[in-house]
Amino acid sequence: MLTLSGVGKRYPTGDRALSDIELSLPKGQVLALIGPSGAGKSTLIRCVNRLVEPSEGRIALEGCELTRLSGAKLRQARRAMGMIFQEYALVDRLSVMENVLSGQLGYVGFWRSFLRRYPAPAVAEAFRLLERVGLSHAIDKRADALSGGQRQRVGIARALLQNPRLLLVDEPTASLDPKTSRQIMRLIRELCAERELAAIINIHDVALAQQFADRIVGLRAGRIVFDGKPQALTAEI
Ligand code: ADP
Ligand code: ADP
Repeated sequence: MLTLSGVGKRYPTGDRALSDIELSLPKGQVLALIGPSGAGKSTLIRCVNRLVEPSEGRIALEGCELTRLSGAKLRQARRAMGMIFQEYALVDRLSVMENVLSGQLGYVGFWRSFLRRYPAPAVAEAFRLLERVGLSHAIDKRADALSGGQRQRVGIARALLQNPRLLLVDEPTASLDPKTSRQIMRLIRELCAERELAAIINIHDVALAQQFADRIVGLRAGRIVFDGKPQALTAEI
């Protein structure tokens, strides 16, 4: 469903972050990207949703070439991709429910307080998702009253509300303790299976990657140095 061919990235500073990336991701596959800091993991994820413009190569999602899109067509293609960030990126003073809804509808600020409503089907779906990620008891809590693991669960529910086919996950466990990290990875893994979602998860913890991914891609200095099943990974990347 996602294909990268000959993808490279050189930043304006002259740093080469990616070279000759060839990668094909089938529907429903959970891929963990591993490699040392500076290997190009974030750059690769950001090239897929075009937060970063690749310097070379092509990226296609469900047959549609992303590298050629702009404006409204790019925004539409991005809706097929759910982003889950390391820093959770929640709006602290909004409730859990409003944070989940804001992913789909955009933050409406004054107009939200003026109208005080969201479309009923979106609210119902947001409630189902919050139940699924284990937060139905906390829908009215402010985001800044949550633990790190709970915040990440809100981020996951928000990403799923737009019904994506691909999840892009950047260091989901970077600020979590080991037990919570495993719970979050297990949740992402289960949701991908339930919804036939493909995922690219940028993760520095190799043991977690091996436990929860279908496939591991190792990057070093912007190049793919390993691509295979988790149990085939032996040498240091
Ligand atoms: P990782 O996620 O594996 O730590 P990154 O994709 O963040 O790797 O970085 C890959 C390389 O690109 C590094 O050499 C980094 O310094 C460089 N880089 C990343 N972002 C930028 C940027 N915005 N401008 C210039 N260089 C960058
Ligand atoms: P990570 O390693 O987790 O990807 P970094 O701390 O390397 O994150 O980068 C944080 C931010 O700084 C990112 O937005 C990245 O694009 C940017 N960045 C990283 N390296 C450089 C660089 N050499 N020049 C400019 N920006 C950079």
